[in-house]
Amino acid sequence: MKHQPEKPRVVTTVAEMRQLVQSARQEGRRIGFVPTMGALHEGHLSLVRAAKEASDFVVVSIYVNPTQFGPQEDFAQYPRTLEADLDLLAVYGIDVVFAPSDQEMYPAGFDSWVEVGGIAAPLEGRCRPGHFRGVATVVLKLFNIVQPDIAWFGQKDYQQALVIQRMVADLNVPVEIRVCPTVREPDGLAMSSRNRYLGPESRQKATILWRALCEAKQLVAAGQKDTAVLAAHLRSMIAAVPGAQIDYVAFVDPQTLSPVRQVDRPVLAALAVRIDGTRLIDNELIAP
Ligand code: AMP
Repeated sequence: MKHQPEKPRVVTTVAEMRQLVQSARQEGRRIGFVPTMGALHEGHLSLVRAAKEASDFVVVSIYVNPTQFGPQEDFAQYPRTLEADLDLLAVYGIDVVFAPSDQEMYPAGFDSWVEVGGIAAPLEGRCRPGHFRGVATVVLKLFNIVQPDIAWFGQKDYQQALVIQRMVADLNVPVEIRVCPTVREPDGLAMSSRNRYLGPESRQKATILWRALCEAKQLVAAGQKDTAVLAAHLRSMIAAVPGAQIDYVAFVDPQTLSPVRQVDRPVLAALAVRIDGTRLIDNELIAP
């Protein structure tokens, strides 16, 4: 019989997490951290592998953070698959999974928030008011609990990584942020826990995000530099998919996220599209 690797240790309290981190530090170990909301897939696991390679004590958090969901969003439906997640993590030999309760993270009386400025305003910030306030707050709390030397984030959530980098720089949080490339399905769909919402037909339609980004790349390579023309082309391509509803199609500066008119330097193409009601995002850097 094949030996099953042991599931990682699960810690649910801040006190225990702090204790473990303190002992690891005393042993001189470098602490790596991967924050997630669970329903793990290869995208998350790529971050776990990077963390495992670069640090000697790896913490993965699994916490569906209520404060980053809007009132009309999918907090209640968000997939929660802790046992399966632990099985997936078992092979990596990570040290701890931190899976706190809402009560542990937001006890009665909780009333402090992290507001990141301009970088959090456009794109996701505009479509999901309060989202980045919830993200920045929970990530700062997790950083204070886990006290990592390095933390990993995915390019899939490009703006989120920028928001976290801004927060860490502005608030002097002693952690290094590393960003890993987006992991995709064979047909290009960016892996996401929300892909689980897609039935077979919607799953097929969802390839439009990556196809649109590839089209933008090809148009730029063929000499089209005008982002208004590119955006119009992508919009009509996406609108032709039944059940696809565009939140935004944007061509922005990769550092500031301000709109860019001409692709005469690297530009971030970013999309948010609802496919039969499931909201998906994707992005790609496009060089002239
Ligand atoms: P989530 O569980 O969706 O909050 O994501 C946790 C972390 O995994 C975030 O840093 C995401 O950017 C990252 N992530 C999610 N999907 C992917 C993906 N397809 N490729 C790379 N990183 C990802």
